[in-house]
Amino acid sequence: MTTAGYAEIVVLRNHAKIDQGFTYLIPHKLQEAIYVGSRVMVPFGAQQIEGVVIAIKPTYEGDLAKLKEITFVFDRDLSLTEEMVELAEHMRRQYLCTYTEAFSLMLPTGVLVTPETHYYPVDSFHGQNEEIKGSVKEVYDAILKQSDVTLETIEVSYSEAVIKKAFKQLLAIFAIKEDVKYIEQIKDRTIEKYTVVGDMTALLETIPERYKMRKRVCAYFVENPKGELKALREATKAPKSVVDWFEKKEMIRIESIQENRMPEFMNSTSAKAEVVLSSEQKTIVEDILSYYHTTPEKPFLLRGVTGSGKTEVYSALIAHCLNQGKTAILTLPEIALTPQMVSRFAKRFGKERIALMHSKLSNGEKYDQWRAMRKGELDIVIGARSAIFAPISNLGIVILDESHEQSYRSERRPKYDTYEIALQRKTFWQAILLAGSATPSVESTYEGKIGLRHLMTLSNRFNNAAVPVPDIIDMREELESGNRSMLSRALFDAIEERIERKEQVIIFLNRTGHSTFVTCRSCGFTLDCPNCDITLTYHKHDNRMRCHYCQYESFIPKKCPSCGSHYFKQFGVGTEKLEETLKEFFPEARIARMDRTTTRRKGQFEAIISQVEEENVDILVGTQMVAKGLDFAKVTLVGIISADLLMNMPHFQAGERTYQLVNQVSGRAGRGALKGDVILQTYQPDHYAITSDDYDTFYDMEIKYREKLGYPPFRQLVNLVFTSRDEKVANNYAEMSYQYLKRNLLKKDLQKEMEMYAVHAALLKKIDGEYRYQVLIKCHAEHVDYLRYLIEKLQTRFITIKDCKINIDLNARNIL
Ligand code: ADP
Ligand code: ZN
Ligand code: ZN
Repeated sequence: MTTAGYAEIVVLRNHAKIDQGFTYLIPHKLQEAIYVGSRVMVPFGAQQIEGVVIAIKPTYEGDLAKLKEITFVFDRDLSLTEEMVELAEHMRRQYLCTYTEAFSLMLPTGVLVTPETHYYPVDSFHGQNEEIKGSVKEVYDAILKQSDVTLETIEVSYSEAVIKKAFKQLLAIFAIKEDVKYIEQIKDRTIEKYTVVGDMTALLETIPERYKMRKRVCAYFVENPKGELKALREATKAPKSVVDWFEKKEMIRIESIQENRMPEFMNSTSAKAEVVLSSEQKTIVEDILSYYHTTPEKPFLLRGVTGSGKTEVYSALIAHCLNQGKTAILTLPEIALTPQMVSRFAKRFGKERIALMHSKLSNGEKYDQWRAMRKGELDIVIGARSAIFAPISNLGIVILDESHEQSYRSERRPKYDTYEIALQRKTFWQAILLAGSATPSVESTYEGKIGLRHLMTLSNRFNNAAVPVPDIIDMREELESGNRSMLSRALFDAIEERIERKEQVIIFLNRTGHSTFVTCRSCGFTLDCPNCDITLTYHKHDNRMRCHYCQYESFIPKKCPSCGSHYFKQFGVGTEKLEETLKEFFPEARIARMDRTTTRRKGQFEAIISQVEEENVDILVGTQMVAKGLDFAKVTLVGIISADLLMNMPHFQAGERTYQLVNQVSGRAGRGALKGDVILQTYQPDHYAITSDDYDTFYDMEIKYREKLGYPPFRQLVNLVFTSRDEKVANNYAEMSYQYLKRNLLKKDLQKEMEMYAVHAALLKKIDGEYRYQVLIKCHAEHVDYLRYLIEKLQTRFITIKDCKINIDLNARNIL
């Protein structure tokens, strides 16, 4: 068999058993079209399956007779690149995922195709017709008559099985031939445009009155010598045959133009004037470019207080890269923030070069943009974390805005971290990598301090307004003086004042925690785990408190162990309740609520935003959603109902997340010309996460705590979750895996280097009817590779186990 070489191909079927390259022959006619990253169709078992070429080889060592040929190759602008293949290989090692899982993040959904087999008569087939009789003859005659059929389109009245059998026989005697075509599930969208090329006015005279439709269409053409057929049909209700008549008479010319479906960008009302960078912004941009020049491999971490104008810095750096003919990716932590950002960039760079990527786009939009990016027609990509996989080449810069946000880590398989993917792409293209945040994660700042990133700081707000420092209100004192409501007197007074002055208020209430804790409302005491320094979580079913890491357990004391008060209770209020309370207190105020319930439907989030913008709202109540990115000039007061819910999350990051959120929320106040205030209510007014005056003070406390207890960045948390519909099964496999790991670590004498917590039910023990059991390991970074190796072996066993799944996170944060 002659061949143009051998291709290693991964078939796009997500199954660990076939997660490898299979060798196929490259037919000569496809030689030019096959390269690393090509998407192809190949025979696999009895089927034709879509695959991706991961390598090309001139020789093959195995049994040549067993190899099959690639049957089809897709257009270049639907294929992946060599960079993407490398990235998938990296992800497979790093996250223990399959090729298919990695590739499916890179491919736009819906490009997958369905094969369709067509049958044609063979012209040279003569004479042997006596072999053909009965049903076979009827099928053959139908093929002759129709000249091109498929199983669905052939006009005979036999069952599928009979027709298939007939096809087979006819193929065997070379009476017909077959050809597989690939039908894309998403079609290109074309627009049909017409141009009048003949003398329509003259024609109009000659059309007799009784041809009413022809006359009407002709008159339309006289009025509109150029346009879209769709508009013509809508205006005149003309059937296709009438339009065809004009075309046949060569009175019009029709052409089909491929149109790109592009998402609509939010149009912001006020056009902004030319931006001139402040001197601080200018210095940062220049420094970044010059550091990049001398140490191109090192990423940047930009800390800039809220309102310092980080976006303008991004914009200047992107402009610099575009000028050099390179491309840019900017990711944002939330889809809701993308329209605002995109319209800001569209104004500066023109919307025709921007791609917007996130999961809520239609498949058609995703597909068209994907192709346009792949072809190099779009060079700025803005989007949520999925934008990091944008199919653009020649990357000049990757920016992660609000880089500390949790949403940058995927909680689904593969559990990738957007920053780690960005780092791979940065390295491949030697691009600038910039993570920006007002409150960078402790891990990222630590990397800066040990020299792995350049640390850059913007310390002033752009308009030099002060960043408000929260007023901390001790809710224990409120209780003592008889105020048992959710609002402290200070917050009440401050809200009242804003309403009188016609300014706006944001009231923030955290509600992310899935769990509740118990706190003393008299002294602020909470029950913590003696081993882990983490708040114990209340378990309703047996009315006990448990540590979510080490499973330390305690009953709930009736009285506060610290001060003896009886106000020792579970904690937790909702936004709805808060909204009601505010309505009671301020009946004349216009109140809007923003949380998951009120923004579920498309457009609701934007509607609330514009209500606040147009000053039709006095008080905006909400969850995390009100904390991020919003920029309202008239908001002069931010109230934080309780910082405690954050500080007492059963999580080693509780302090950090509190600090970040308090800063983000506070940053919403005083962004315009008016000064802003922040009021923060708490039962633990001395916690460093809220008393730290600045980031550095907070960081110093936090990093000491992390080091002392061996949390990231000093150790990695490895989390294995075993899920099954049968609780016993999940528990048993978790236990077996635990023992397996333990034995092997003992063999290598690594038991002291790793801290393994005993098997336990996850905090969210049952999700979607699946029970979840957990093995949690604290591990030094230098031993992670060995652990990965063990876990990989473990994982291969689970390929054959049907009733239990294993979910692996080698660098876990969220371990609920
Ligand atoms: P951050 O992202 O750091 O919170 P933004 O980039 O949103 O801050 O900037 C805060 C405000 O300051 C925005 O309204 C922005 O338009 C304005 N701003 C920032 N830099 C400039 C500049 N150089 N010229 C004019 N306005 C600016
Ligand atoms: Zn107490
Ligand atoms: Zn514990």
